[in-house]
Amino acid sequence: MLLLLLASLIASAVELTPEALESRVAALAPVVEAVAGRPFATLPPVVVADPETLAAVVYAEQVHLLRQGRRLEAAQIEAQATRTAGAMEHAAFGKYGFLDDTLYVDIDGITAAVQGTSPALTAGVVDLVLAHELVHALQDQHLDLSRVAGGRAGDEGIAVVCALEGHAAWVQTAVARELDLAGPAALVAAFLGYDASSPGISSSLDAYHDSYVYGQGAAFVGTLQAAGGSEAVWDMLAAPPQRTTMLVHPERYGDRPTQPPVRLRRAATRARDALAEAGWTTGSQSVGDHAIRQTLLAAGGPTALASQLRTGWSTRAYHSARIGLDLQLLEFEDTESAAAFVDALRRGAQATVEATAGAPGVRGRLEELEVASADAAHLERFGLALPGMPPESVATATALRGSLVAQVILVNVELGSDALASGLARVLSRAR
Ligand SMILES: [Zn+2]
Repeated sequence: MLLLLLASLIASAVELTPEALESRVAALAPVVEAVAGRPFATLPPVVVADPETLAAVVYAEQVHLLRQGRRLEAAQIEAQATRTAGAMEHAAFGKYGFLDDTLYVDIDGITAAVQGTSPALTAGVVDLVLAHELVHALQDQHLDLSRVAGGRAGDEGIAVVCALEGHAAWVQTAVARELDLAGPAALVAAFLGYDASSPGISSSLDAYHDSYVYGQGAAFVGTLQAAGGSEAVWDMLAAPPQRTTMLVHPERYGDRPTQPPVRLRRAATRARDALAEAGWTTGSQSVGDHAIRQTLLAAGGPTALASQLRTGWSTRAYHSARIGLDLQLLEFEDTESAAAFVDALRRGAQATVEATAGAPGVRGRLEELEVASADAAHLERFGLALPGMPPESVATATALRGSLVAQVILVNVELGSDALASGLARVLSRAR
């Protein structure tokens, strides 16, 4: 009996031919439908793929999405799509391609990642990867993924990804409960970068983004599901959160997102143009909880301050993905939170300067900045010069006035303190 059982487990693990995968998908589909609360119009074909194929699918989708509603140059689209596809290549074992309605799965990748453990575990992981991607197929059939995800940038773009991925992660976990696949569920969650037993944002900088997207996304979907069932979740997916703060604070979902006042944004745009070189590409987008929380985490500051951000906006000018500047306006709920944010950045910069002092090729400096009408201001500069690599530099000038924080971030752009101070003063002069 035991031998028979073992034999069937092993058979289920090695028999992952295209036909076997099709029948696994057919068996999983009713469970996904029951958990997600919507039926499939049709089941997507399954293709066994390698990481390069998965990356190519992601690349083509990114180009498609970036071309919608945004005025980006072809070279920028290519650079951004390449970055996203490159980041995906080592992370994902499956991908639902919404351009060809096909489900891609990297069986070798899964087998290698689960190595040394039981064939049953591998089979369970394959099932949950398929279940996850089936959810994206379901989203596409009911909502049209290219419409939901297209043309959204900045914090809004991240919020939409969190909603879609959080839904897939939540359903995948619920399917695992139905099928008694707790072990594989923990592994798949770990591959996606979050903890299945308590989905949420990781306090490790490396795991931060993925845990936000999948873990916090799943927690957000779980909250909506508990309150209003799967129809509340589908209503949300049809009108996804417009800011990432809504993922962390579901009670804020549905609030109308605000932007800094027009007078401030105009002043920021003029200051940006004065600092940038003529002919650079420009654009603006929202900044929210996701970026501010990450900044606080990197600085070793209190991440709860991110919840005190009322609104954030950034306007950038760039020569290329490597060279450019970004001017950000961050309005906090109160002056204490804004001051605490600036203080956390200053302390973080000081700690980094001290930690990197004497390291070969690294130079870091923190200095005071005299900015007219600022309550506080500082400038941090970091440079990296390693043999055989182009030198890199990042500088961040931060100024506080009341509940407003204005920042200029330079990436491989050399500008003196005086120019940065006068740019920030120009913005703060419009603050009330
Ligand atoms: Zn996904």
